[in-house]
Amino acid sequence: MTTVLTRSFPPEKPAAANTAPGKKRVVIVGGGFAGIASARALKRSDVEILLVDRRNHHIFQPLLYQVATAVLAPAEIAAPFRQLEAKQKNLSVLLAEVNGINPVARTIEATCPGAGSRKIEYDFLVVAAGMRPSYFGHDEFARFAPGLKNLNDAETIRTKILGAFELAESTSDDEERARQMTFVLVGAGPTGVELAASIAQLVSVTLRRNFRNIDPAKSRILLLDGGTRVLPTFAESLSRKVAKRLKKLGVEVMNGVKVEKVDDQGVIAAGERIASATVLWTAGVAASPVVKMLGTTMDRAGRALVGPFLDLPESPDVFVVGDAAAMTQDGHPVPGVAQAAIQQGRFVGRLIARRVRGRKEGRPFRYRSKGNMAVVGKNFAILEAGWLRTGGFLTWLVWAALHVLSLPQLQNRFRVQTQWFWSYLTGQRSSRLISEAPRPPASR
Ligand SMILES: Cc1cc2nc3c(=O)[nH]c(=O)nc-3n(C[C@H](O)[C@H](O)[C@H](O)COP(=O)(O)OP(=O)(O)OC[C@H]3O[C@@H](n4cnc5c(N)ncnc54)[C@H](O)[C@@H]3O)c2cc1C
Repeated sequence: MTTVLTRSFPPEKPAAANTAPGKKRVVIVGGGFAGIASARALKRSDVEILLVDRRNHHIFQPLLYQVATAVLAPAEIAAPFRQLEAKQKNLSVLLAEVNGINPVARTIEATCPGAGSRKIEYDFLVVAAGMRPSYFGHDEFARFAPGLKNLNDAETIRTKILGAFELAESTSDDEERARQMTFVLVGAGPTGVELAASIAQLVSVTLRRNFRNIDPAKSRILLLDGGTRVLPTFAESLSRKVAKRLKKLGVEVMNGVKVEKVDDQGVIAAGERIASATVLWTAGVAASPVVKMLGTTMDRAGRALVGPFLDLPESPDVFVVGDAAAMTQDGHPVPGVAQAAIQQGRFVGRLIARRVRGRKEGRPFRYRSKGNMAVVGKNFAILEAGWLRTGGFLTWLVWAALHVLSLPQLQNRFRVQTQWFWSYLTGQRSSRLISEAPRPPASR
């Protein structure tokens, strides 16, 4: 049965202190960078905000690859949404999965654990539901090649990588040992590059001398991509620098290679089988299915085609922000990066605040890029900002400082700094525990 939620939420809680009749309700779907920025921008506004997310925590996605490669623990890059309630009086949090939107009735439908399906009314809706991995029409690959989008994915990948070495150590079959020690990453964008470099340093430094029967440094790490170069969204000169750096770390980059099949034995790419027990999907992304529920016009990746104020042409009280929105500026798409999501979220929060006060609309949204960075293992990062294209140790220091400062809470910053410092000095990674014994391969 579906309960309809009107003004006071949740109904079991008699009208919360912050819910007064007559106040406009802003429902935000998704507590990623864009959703949180919208909520914060509405902090001083006389509205009632409901933040709905299917998880109970915000994730700092740029450092997910470090959880996947045992540098950091999940809690170090995440923060519970509930803490926001304490900090922002006009905000409530609902742990629920949104599975329907009716822009005509101005309601969303969400399934809450323990309470079933609920209809929630809104005056303004902000959809900030982000992206999910896309397997380009081959969803059957997902079973064998996890993508990296949330903490579960990161832990699955970490377990797969560390488990592969345990299985390699204990097998007496040379072929199987080689398969366990071969890591294939599909997609040479920032996530693929960062993960590949981090795995390379894990095998050559952290795991050195940790096994009796195998030498982890002899592992193969392959980075496959259908395009002509790594990091295609960066300048060519930087792609070349990164490719050189990856080679130095022992990563085999294979460009112009199309992956035709992924199964429990590895991949078939460009007609050849590569036997691997760990295939990771770092290629395409598609918008969250929440966007489709809006019934609006979408691009090929399922993102909503938003107007200049990030609203929908047919429903001006519905906004789509962050990765889920498709927008062009000066003939180029606004990139799916954290700073674009934050700027869009903040813009929409301020816009709603103005509308509530009956103020004029202001100027349309304009993305201001502060530059893009990617890190390639220890001591090396690249930066592209306007005419500036640079890479090396100093850029890596800037990358590290910016990432620490951008973490959601003070305790995250403190813990990440400490872990990095320890890891930098010793080469050790502190999150190497796996809670389940690795499963031996099914007989071939
Ligand atoms: C591995 C990785 C590394 C990255 N590295 C960088 C980087 O170095 N620099 C950079 O600028 N950008 C980076 N990005 C991109 C950046 O993280 C995204 O652009 C940004 O997170 C987009 O923010 P968002 O708020 O639109 O979506 P997200 O941060 O993805 O948040 C979406 C939220 O919506 C929730 N949600 C989705 N569907 C539902 C539903 N049905 N019901 C309820 N809740 C739902 C999710 O739980 C999630 O909390 C990286 C992304 C990844 C995955």
